[in-house]
Amino acid sequence: MLIDSLRKKGIDNEDVLSAMMNVPRHLFMAKGFEERAYQDNAFPIAAEQTISQPYTVAFQTSLLEIKKSDKVLEVGTGSGYQAAVLLELGVKLYTIERQQELFKSSKLLLNNLGYYPYSYYGDGYKGLPSYAPFDKILVTAGAPEIPENLSEQLKTGGIMVIPTGSRHSQDMLKIIKISEGEYKTENHGKFIFVPMLKGKK
Ligand code: SAH
Repeated sequence: MLIDSLRKKGIDNEDVLSAMMNVPRHLFMAKGFEERAYQDNAFPIAAEQTISQPYTVAFQTSLLEIKKSDKVLEVGTGSGYQAAVLLELGVKLYTIERQQELFKSSKLLLNNLGYYPYSYYGDGYKGLPSYAPFDKILVTAGAPEIPENLSEQLKTGGIMVIPTGSRHSQDMLKIIKISEGEYKTENHGKFIFVPMLKGKK
């Protein structure tokens, strides 16, 4: 039913939809919220963060135009749900989380389910320079501006999807790196994310 509702809301990337069909979202929810896992809503997780709304996961993942074996950087591992969806699509995933509690719990859960991203505890504003460049970069927290480190760590021809704006409303930007220092930016509408914060906790 959830997947059907995403189709009705305009998600038409069948690879993304079947990846989401394969990920048991209830396992990524906080205690007490499991029953609501297949509703199209964001929900609270530990450390005052949220698991993204399925529509948002589907929308961001579609914008990334994922190809199998893409090298992808995710900023904001959170529950690990979006990471699992990307791994279902066959990417090589690097994911960073600044909340130690979430870093630990998502890594354990993903590994228990047979998903093995390269998980890092740190500040996503810095990206992962030693593993750059990336084919795709996905930011799953609301950024006040586009972090220069991340644009630099994108391959030429690569795509970054990043919600950018104020604390209470962000524009979903799709940034395509045309050449070194040259980018094309598309705006895909308003979303609301928890904030992208500096440093680690
Ligand atoms: N992709 C997640 C969404 C979690 S919400 C999911 O599917 O559940 C966004 C996450 O980004 C939060 O866990 C928050 O702690 C994290 N975050 C915020 N700023 C960050 C930063 N600078 N570096 C890494 N993670 C960050």
